[in-house]
Amino acid sequence: MNVPHLLYLIYGNRHAIKRACVIFAILIAGFIFFIYLVIVTVFTVVQGTGSVTSDDIIEQPGTFTEFQGFSYKTAFGERWYEFNHPYIFPTLGVLTQGVILDQGAVVGTRHVAWDIADRVPRQTEVKAFADGTVVAVKDNILYNTTRRWRLCDTSPNGICWYVVAEPGDVQYGCGYEVNILHADSLRSQYCHLTSINVHTDQQVTLGRTIGYQASTGWATGKHLHFVLWRDGQPIPPTYAFTQTSLQNWGDDEN
Ligand SMILES: [Zn+2]
Repeated sequence: MNVPHLLYLIYGNRHAIKRACVIFAILIAGFIFFIYLVIVTVFTVVQGTGSVTSDDIIEQPGTFTEFQGFSYKTAFGERWYEFNHPYIFPTLGVLTQGVILDQGAVVGTRHVAWDIADRVPRQTEVKAFADGTVVAVKDNILYNTTRRWRLCDTSPNGICWYVVAEPGDVQYGCGYEVNILHADSLRSQYCHLTSINVHTDQQVTLGRTIGYQASTGWATGKHLHFVLWRDGQPIPPTYAFTQTSLQNWGDDEN
């Protein structure tokens, strides 16, 4: 086969070659987009899944007024902080995700909060941590926008997966949210609520129901994401409550 003959063959099949090139380009672009999605996708810890055992059902909320002093870290070091007011653990459930302080890691792994999931398909009240004033009621629904996707299994206790295109999108993940300002500028934040029973500037007393556990926003199942704040710093709930307390919560012996 000489060169002119080859050129003639190519010329004769130019439309087929063009089509093949277009299909190849589309496949390559699709593959690159797929890899991009995998890279930018952030999957959170699965909550609200698995079988529910009787051990997971905690019927009575306890009151933990014994942990009133705790320290927290600021940019200037550790600060001792006394919250000399009664407070309670704000909802029923088990701890499904604790505090994760991985500064350099990918989006979604820094989690200065406690996730408490009542893994029973029922309405689970979320209550005010202490006396205070509602300072913010927000609706940060992460939902089917161009850069945020929420893919949910609609069965009871089904999970949701989240895909974000930019780290900044994570801020929408709180869902229906309530913030309460307590004494000494301590603020409590409650995320992923299904409905909210309070409004901004409302005075609430300790234990007042402010909403119900749900999975609005960045959540993979029904739970409460609970955070304490002071001086713009998140205070790990670990300083206010102990894991032991959570485990004993609802136990009549304690
Ligand atoms: Zn959380």
